[in-house]
Amino acid sequence: MQSLWIDTFKKTYKFPKFSGASQYDVCIVGGGIFGISCAYYLTKLGFQVTVLEKDEIASKTTGHTTAKITSQHGLLYHYLIEQFGIPFARAYLEANEKAIEAIKEIIDTEHISCDFSYQNSFIYTTKPEELQNIHDEVSAVQSLNFTCEFTTKVGLPFEVLGSCVFKHQAQFHPLKYVYGLVDCIADNCDIFTHTTVTDIRQTNDGYVCYTEEGEVHAKYVVLACHYPFLKVPGFYFLKMYQASSYLIAVDTKKTLFDGMYLTAGEPTLSFRTARINGKELLLIGGADHKTGTYCNYEASYGVLEQVAKTYYPESEVLYRWNTRDCITLDKIPYIGIYSHYMPNLYVGTGFQKWGMTSSNVAANIVTDMICKKENPYAFVFSATRMQPIKNRGEVKNMVVQSAKSIVLDKLNPSYLSFDEIALNSGGIVQINGEKVGIFKDSQGKIFAVKPVCTHLGCLLSWNDVDKTWDCPCHGSRFDFKGKNLYDPAIENLQVYDIH
Ligand SMILES: Cc1cc2nc3c(=O)[nH]c(=O)nc-3n(C[C@H](O)[C@H](O)[C@H](O)COP(=O)(O)OP(=O)(O)OC[C@H]3O[C@@H](n4cnc5c(N)ncnc54)[C@H](O)[C@@H]3O)c2cc1C
Repeated sequence: MQSLWIDTFKKTYKFPKFSGASQYDVCIVGGGIFGISCAYYLTKLGFQVTVLEKDEIASKTTGHTTAKITSQHGLLYHYLIEQFGIPFARAYLEANEKAIEAIKEIIDTEHISCDFSYQNSFIYTTKPEELQNIHDEVSAVQSLNFTCEFTTKVGLPFEVLGSCVFKHQAQFHPLKYVYGLVDCIADNCDIFTHTTVTDIRQTNDGYVCYTEEGEVHAKYVVLACHYPFLKVPGFYFLKMYQASSYLIAVDTKKTLFDGMYLTAGEPTLSFRTARINGKELLLIGGADHKTGTYCNYEASYGVLEQVAKTYYPESEVLYRWNTRDCITLDKIPYIGIYSHYMPNLYVGTGFQKWGMTSSNVAANIVTDMICKKENPYAFVFSATRMQPIKNRGEVKNMVVQSAKSIVLDKLNPSYLSFDEIALNSGGIVQINGEKVGIFKDSQGKIFAVKPVCTHLGCLLSWNDVDKTWDCPCHGSRFDFKGKNLYDPAIENLQVYDIH
């Protein structure tokens, strides 16, 4: 299931795979929007930069996003003010508003054609019990001296009870933007694809990043690989999990509305439009769940297709895709120094499904840190922060599920019998006392793997929508043949030969 963005962008670059040994000022691990934004700023400043990307540039979360560029990150500001106070909430808002400006400035200066358009962003509700939350958010944002309004007038094809609107937000085509940045730096920055960084070790004067076929030496390293694969120090596996969402792009056969929309509460529904080859499409997103927890077609794409049919009975679904993003325990990304024990190693992660602005905030903070320049927003996102837990619901999501998958599910797994696994489906069976992950293709051919995550050993679960093995602890994903698809794991699953 290809994303609209990947399908409608024709790549002109073919980057080599890294081999041998090289020296750079900065090694950026990961070529999503964060890695490439960082490479853009640092290359422009004259640093010798390399980007090492495991797959293709912007082919992972960035290639599957909704690409709303906004500082309206859900109903966030009421929470931020209550938990952290006004100066902190104001700095978060300002950092993200500055990111919108910075993205527009790059687009204008570099003449990047990426379907950027200013839009109003709305958080809305149709439920009386959620109305007070909208009013609280409007008051909170206004108390930060930011223009935000309560309105019932929205462009959606149904009535809402209320909404909180941020004006002058934006949207774009994420691949056109990221490859536009690549165009600006390609002559001065060495980009390598299909190059997985497998380990990073400290040296006397920096780091060495090991890949399958070589090593890169650099004074500074930026972990832009979405979920850091390094475990210790840092311990990011104790402070983040991943959540998946689904998207469809629909030809509604009707004239569409302006604006970008998100529900105030559960279930999440997100709307924006995109003009593709002269046709206006409606993007509908939602059906969120923690990555690795059970989901089927009806509960994912089925829900979104039903929304499309309800409001646009003639509509046709042209694209379906999904991805996942890192969720932190206190709703704030981790940006800056990776660990006090590893100087000059930087990270940007935990973007909470708001990585279009957060990646720009992160790229600016990391660039400033490398340049030894103070950044006024760095304190908000400090990746080494230690503070009391602000959001107990997320702790349950993280700690309880990890304990369950690492220990309890392994002691007491729910096995299927071999015959219970339908064609084109998968599940865990027990063979000679061993847990075996089985996928039967539509012809009955069997693919067998050890269903244990190569990141930290959690028991994997079968994802029947994408035909993948997913980790409920930290969100790593593997195809049915055991190939690692998504971070933080980097190694493939052990494969069994079963006849
Ligand atoms: C369904 C959904 C909708 C979203 N919609 C929005 C939205 O409307 N607005 C918004 O602001 N945000 C949105 N987001 C969030 C946003 O898309 C992400 O936060 C952002 O794309 C993350 O960018 P990234 O560069 O950190 O990660 P990625 O794009 O995943 O890039 C990381 C790269 O690192 C590479 N990598 C991983 N491990 C290694 C390794 N060991 N060696 C080398 N390379 C490695 C990967 O292959 C990948 O290409 C959404 C997220 C989801 C899940």
